[in-house]
Amino acid sequence: MDSAGTALDDRLPSDRLLRATAAQWNGALVWTSADGTIVGANPGFARLTGSPLDAMIGRSLPGLLDLGGRGWQSVWQGERESLQPPGTGVLHVPRNDPIPVDLHWQHLTEGDDALLLCEMRDFDERERAEAVARLQQDVLELVAGGRSLRLVLDFLCRQVEACAPEVSCSVMLRDGENRMRVAAAPSLAASYTAAIDGLAIEPDVGSCGSAMTTGKAVMSADIAGDPSWLKRRDLALAHGLAACWSNPIKDREARALGSFALYYRKPRDMAPPFHRRLVEACVHLCALAIEHDRARAEINRLAYFDTLTGLPNRQLLADRATAALALAGRTRQPVTLMFLDIDRFKTVNDSLGHAVGDELLVEVATRLRRLFIEGDTLARLGGDEFVALLPGCDAAHAALLAERVLAALSVPLTVADLTLTPTASIGIAVHPDDGMDFDTLLRQADAAMYRAKQAGRNRCHFFRRDMNEQAVRRLEMEAALREALDRQEAGCPDEEAPFELHYQPQVRLKPHRLYRVEALIRWTHPRWGAVSPAEFVPLAEECGLIDRLDSWVLKAAVAQLGRWRAAGVPVPGLAVNVSAVRFARGDLPDQVRAALAVNGIPANDLTLEITERLMMTEEVGVHDALDALHALGVTLSIDDFGTGYSSLGYLKRYPVAELKIDRSFVKELDIDAANRPLVRAIIQIGEALGLTVVAEGVEREAQHSMLEAEGCAIGQGYLFARPMPAAALVDWLAGEGKHWVDSPAEGCFSI
Ligand code: C2E
Ligand code: MG
Ligand code: MG
Repeated sequence: MDSAGTALDDRLPSDRLLRATAAQWNGALVWTSADGTIVGANPGFARLTGSPLDAMIGRSLPGLLDLGGRGWQSVWQGERESLQPPGTGVLHVPRNDPIPVDLHWQHLTEGDDALLLCEMRDFDERERAEAVARLQQDVLELVAGGRSLRLVLDFLCRQVEACAPEVSCSVMLRDGENRMRVAAAPSLAASYTAAIDGLAIEPDVGSCGSAMTTGKAVMSADIAGDPSWLKRRDLALAHGLAACWSNPIKDREARALGSFALYYRKPRDMAPPFHRRLVEACVHLCALAIEHDRARAEINRLAYFDTLTGLPNRQLLADRATAALALAGRTRQPVTLMFLDIDRFKTVNDSLGHAVGDELLVEVATRLRRLFIEGDTLARLGGDEFVALLPGCDAAHAALLAERVLAALSVPLTVADLTLTPTASIGIAVHPDDGMDFDTLLRQADAAMYRAKQAGRNRCHFFRRDMNEQAVRRLEMEAALREALDRQEAGCPDEEAPFELHYQPQVRLKPHRLYRVEALIRWTHPRWGAVSPAEFVPLAEECGLIDRLDSWVLKAAVAQLGRWRAAGVPVPGLAVNVSAVRFARGDLPDQVRAALAVNGIPANDLTLEITERLMMTEEVGVHDALDALHALGVTLSIDDFGTGYSSLGYLKRYPVAELKIDRSFVKELDIDAANRPLVRAIIQIGEALGLTVVAEGVEREAQHSMLEAEGCAIGQGYLFARPMPAAALVDWLAGEGKHWVDSPAEGCFSI
């Protein structure tokens, strides 16, 4: 045993022993000469400083080490005189962060070639080791707890940044198209991450791109001069990012899944040991979290999706239906279940083989998918059975949808050189009428589908008979309406025209004068006779025909007024109904302008009657159209006022000039006293806002006199005149309605 208390056999070669011990030593060892020049150092010192040893030998240790105000000489002397050595210092390595260290000094030899041994330890070492262990544990707990991948990666980055405040962290993932996706980068600017998100992964899109393509860690010591950053250099520098150390995240087969990067705000050659330790742990954790997430997604896909078509399966359908029905119970919205079964699928499968059958199913799924909107669920139950869950969809809408489904399916397709025309039978059940829970609804829809099969396939049946009848009538009516419009637009002879306009006078109550006439559309069907606009106008709105219908009405009515004017028939003005749906298309003001110009009608002789629903829309186009029409000089009137929304704010906001009290209020005005205050209130609102008030549906003299007494300006109703064809109006003006016109008509107008 020697004086230092070490037991060593004298035969051991002391030089090799020293080197081996120093190499294995965990702490940093530095040997200096008397003037502080570094003459030797172990790998621990390279780890601590983050610099290669070659670069350190020959440098001055006092130049690197800040001893807190004490000079080198005092260390040298202090140690020699066994004074208390300075216990701590701060190591300043070029292009690296200052490292606080614990110091231990020892004189090895005396004299001219005296040697001093200094042992340094990063004094945050233990704390940092604990931080890494904690990080690992926390992240693993999140992964095991089933938290989303984004949340886990975001947490990881934030924890790393908390341990090493001098860095910004990012995790990029490689997507299916070999593009970079920012998965987490909590402290990088959104403008920076938005610019790099979605870039194709190539070696020259920065360190992360290089790390993912080469599969190796990439240190961009100075982004400003790094060729791999050429394309993104300015962007990075503008965001204060000067250096980047990116490490590939690999799966078990060593394929790069993404990258984990540390960004520095100053150029630097090498990351310090603590950062390397962190990165080593994080790359591992990221790989684990990503692989765990992928495995979970795959399990989810197998459990909830049909593998052939990729559609939700019965389980997912049941889950979503249960949720939708619970919500519908609170909001009182309908929920429709549409059960679809491909006709003669078994024959296809048996005669053409399963491969052809599979192809057919995939094609059907593709066609169906396009017809449904977000919030709907289209599922495959198995075999050739598909079910659509349609929250908020009522029977009427379901009938329209079913028709579209049948039309979309019946387009021929080619499979294995054969042309097939798929058809399907559809059964529909609607909550709450047909059932409260998923199983019941599914059973009813299935039963309805079975009836559709029995009735000859390629059709849709509702579970309830009355719904069936309604649906059939709607479908027939839609087809008839479409055909009628085609004929009308093609300019068929008047006597064969399916549509006609009737005109109903609106009169000023005091003094009695004809105010204007309202154009009301009439449709006569060869089989059904006269169809009420209250039935076919809403249908036209739903099935997208209202634009064509209203365009025709506008043109025909304005042209009629033009003819009356030319013939000297004293019709002071014209009101035309315009559906709210029509406003959504921007061309209404242009059409109105053109119709007026062609017929030489001043804009203030035309009134457009619109419903309150339109006023509540937030669509900018609608407001622009209202303003444009007002600027044109056209009067805007709110039809059926009081039946829509209670908010009246729009009356001030939009250029409305008139209110039409809905006829339901006028109806019992003289019977039920309760209606009177309502009507009075509407008249007062009109007065207060300077709006003309028109009362609809005036049928009896008692209503008339009450309205007059309340100060209502204009009346419309059977009491004054019924809607009538253009020619009849001319007769009316000359006869029964004579007293309503300024210059008594002579009964000799020709039109
Ligand atoms: P509306 O615009 O409120 O039209 C007034 C309705 O009340 C007309 O029904 C008219 O015939 C009826 N009416 C008038 N006076 C009386 C009365 O004293 N008693 C009763 N019981 N009814 C009276 P119509 O013609 O069946 O039209 C119904 C609805 O269809 C209209 O209500 C309007 O909203 C819509 N409509 C009619 N023509 C068109 C059109 O060309 N385009 C659009 N978009 N909708 C139209
Ligand atoms: Mg109207
Ligand atoms: Mg009305």
